[in-house]
This record gives sequence, C-alpha cells and structure tokens, in this order.
Amino acid sequence: MPRSALGRCLFAPLIALAATALAQAPDAGPAMRAQAVGPHSHYVEGLTQLGSPKNQNFISNAGFVITPAGVVVIDALGSPRLAERLTQAIRQLTDKPVTHVILTHYHADHIYGLQHFKQLGAQIIAHGASREYIQSDTARLRLEASRTDLAPWIDADTRIVPADVWIDGPTSIKVGGVVFELVPVGPSHTPEDIAVFVSSEKVLFAGDLFFNGRLPFVGQANSRQWIESLDRLLTFDARAVVPGHGAASTQPKKDIGMTRDYLKHLRKTMGDAVSDFVPFDEAYDKTDWSVFSAVPMFGPANRMNAYNTYLLLEQEALKKP
Ligand SMILES: [Zn+2]
Repeated sequence: MPRSALGRCLFAPLIALAATALAQAPDAGPAMRAQAVGPHSHYVEGLTQLGSPKNQNFISNAGFVITPAGVVVIDALGSPRLAERLTQAIRQLTDKPVTHVILTHYHADHIYGLQHFKQLGAQIIAHGASREYIQSDTARLRLEASRTDLAPWIDADTRIVPADVWIDGPTSIKVGGVVFELVPVGPSHTPEDIAVFVSSEKVLFAGDLFFNGRLPFVGQANSRQWIESLDRLLTFDARAVVPGHGAASTQPKKDIGMTRDYLKHLRKTMGDAVSDFVPFDEAYDKTDWSVFSAVPMFGPANRMNAYNTYLLLEQEALKKP
C-alpha cells in the first residue's frame, strides 16, 4: 500500500470522528439535567446568559410534575429544540405523556418551545391577560428578530402558540389526583404572571417574579405590585421554590428577599430622583449600587432596570392627585 494511501487509511476514522464532532457540536447545546425538587417534581435550569445560537436560548427554567395520569410541564423553554430536549429528559423518568403545559407568562424565553408540546397533544394553559401581547407588534417583531439572532433554533417555522385554556382568576386543576393551584400574581413582571403551587409536593413554581442568584430584568414591569406579590409568594408553605431563572431555592425567605430588596432599592433611589427633579443620568451615577454590583447580570441589566423604574415612577408621580 503506498504510504499516502496508508496515511489516509489511518487518519480517515479520525477525520470522520472529528467531522461528526463538528457536525454534532452546534446541535448538542448546553447540558440539560432534570433536578428533583419534590417527590414527583423536577426542573431544568437555564444558563445565566443572554440568549444566543450557542445556548439554543436555554436561559430560563422549566418545571414538570409527574402525576399518575400524565406529566404537567410548567413553562416551555426558549426554542422548540429545547422543548424536545426537555421531553427527552422527562422520558428518562417516566413514559407518561405530557398532558398539560402551564405558562407562568408569555416572555419569549418561556414560550418558543410551545409548538413542540402542542404537537404532542398537550393542553396549554395561560392567563388571559397575555392575549393582547400575543397579537401585538412587539411580539411579532421580537419573533422576527429572534429568527436572525437565534438561528437556526428559531426559524421561519417557529410561531407563538396561543393557550387552549385562558384563565382570568385563581384556578385549580387536578391531574391524576394532584392539585395544581394557579395563582395570578400580576401585573408584576408581566400583566399575566401566574405562580403554580402544588401543595402535595410543597413546591412553588414562581415564574419570573423570582430570579435566584442574579438580577432580574425589570422591563416594563409594575415593580410596586411585584414587591407585593413576592411577599405573597412567601406565604405559601413551600419546601422548594423554582424561580424563572437561577437555581431552585430551599430558603425562599432569604433568596426571594434579594429580588425584593433590589426592586425596593430601585424604587427608592429612582423615586427620590424623580421627586427632586434630578435627571436620570445624574441620578444613576450618584446612586450607590455596591450591594448589587457583584450579583450576576448586574452589567447587562442594571442601568436599563434603573431607567425603566425612573420612567415608571415619573408616571406614578403624574397620577398622584
Ligand atoms: Zn420573563
């Protein structure tokens, strides 16, 4: 055998292996591992990052509860591929079908996986206050931008799936004898926020009212109501609280307290600036952020959060008699 041919023979399997690795690398995405938070309750934890093609938009959490009649999923993750991977993680634990998906709110990173669960025949449940958002230009433009920013995970086939059942107040559903309490806690992070409490599991799925170990994105949130809702979440007899982002907490008083203290700090400092007619940039620069500056996501989130809070408090000041 000529030397060059021998070389090709020896290296061919290596080259093939390398090619396979290259072909698989973009598909593999970040690790997704189901972690138990109750006897039949689990969750997967998204990364503390902004959404990107590399992380498949795995930047938020999803939970699931295995009941004798089927699996109830809480939130659908940020791309159809992630939803498929969540189903595979569920399959490691049970053969039961996914019968319901309860959405804590309609933000992109929690809902772009919905079409996968819809295809599986699951019933989707959400708060009726999100209907307006689904039909808005904001939702449409965000999806269009994601088709570029998060390609190939979000593509022309990705769509915003409406719920099958819209709730408008506190609602209980029973699946396989397990009771899920759907508690509207908005308008806080969004108008349609729902927390899901499963008392038999002593597990609370708090959605994006609770960001654990990182700063939240405040966006257009109603932070006054948000703070009140966090106090409400602390009244549930939960052994574990699954946040929308970050690790599950077994010390909700301490961990939820951080989100609450941060929102209070934003409202106090920006509120004082508004009532003293201090322009935003000046107010931002002279505010002491040292308690929060080392918390993950401070860099990408804090200035925008402060600015949104400043605008909100201006509006609140105008509404005061
Ligand atoms: Zn959100």
